[in-house]
Amino acid sequence: MNLAEKQIISNQLQNAVVGKTITRAIVNQNPHTFVWFALKPSQMFCAHDANNTVALGYESLLNGQIIEKAEVIGGRLYLFISNRALSIDFTPQYFTKNTKPPKRHQLLLMLNDESYLSFTSSLGGALFFIKIGENGWATEGGFPSILTDEFSQDFFLNLIKQTELRSLSAKAFLATKNRIPGLDNTILHEILWEAKVNPKSKMKILNESDFINMYNAIKKVFPAVIQSGGLDTQKDLFGYFGGYITQVSKKTLGKPCFRCGCLIEKEAYLGGVVYYCPECQPFIKS
Ligand SMILES: [Zn+2]
Repeated sequence: MNLAEKQIISNQLQNAVVGKTITRAIVNQNPHTFVWFALKPSQMFCAHDANNTVALGYESLLNGQIIEKAEVIGGRLYLFISNRALSIDFTPQYFTKNTKPPKRHQLLLMLNDESYLSFTSSLGGALFFIKIGENGWATEGGFPSILTDEFSQDFFLNLIKQTELRSLSAKAFLATKNRIPGLDNTILHEILWEAKVNPKSKMKILNESDFINMYNAIKKVFPAVIQSGGLDTQKDLFGYFGGYITQVSKKTLGKPCFRCGCLIEKEAYLGGVVYYCPECQPFIKS
């Protein structure tokens, strides 16, 4: 999930589930190779828990507890439950009383008003449930949030200066290695379209004005996506698509660019795909 989604889901969780009591938790009913469970930092991303002991340990810690708060801290979305915080890496779904929750899930929380919160992942992600404050878990003090003034133009330009750019492309710099928490592949293309930078152009040959355009695009796109309730390619807590009209996505592939009229292209790149306008985001060869 990108930071805009996390902020949107956080607000929705705050309204839908905060203050409710978990009457029953069902954990890891349908195991997924890339859904990770951990009750302490040393268990994070460990080899798959064959006996399911870590995951099953969640149930007694969740049953009967009140969901106290939903909050995004340092680029991560958490649900605060008792003295622990559950990290949420993929979009949960909320089901009201009298609707049927999905059959498959890695975590299902039944709530005291007979509604449900279900976590079913397609690509995977962490569902860590660590004590608040353990190794800095769920506390402030990490990377500044993109949405704050601390994430300033100077901070961004310094981040570029301090990174070994080698052959990193704009996509690799912005959306890999969790270098900028909350900026992932789902929102990357909108940012680079705004900045008029091709995802494959190497950071080394881009100039400072490109970097400033990237920075301004980050600062423009995230609040706009939050304001619109999410990207039109992604679903929220209640299963609805957002209202932010994507310029470069599977929805606009082969259609004219809103800015210049050239047709939007898609290419396989870095183990994923990139979308861009070949005219206003020209690929600069190194
Ligand atoms: Zn264009």
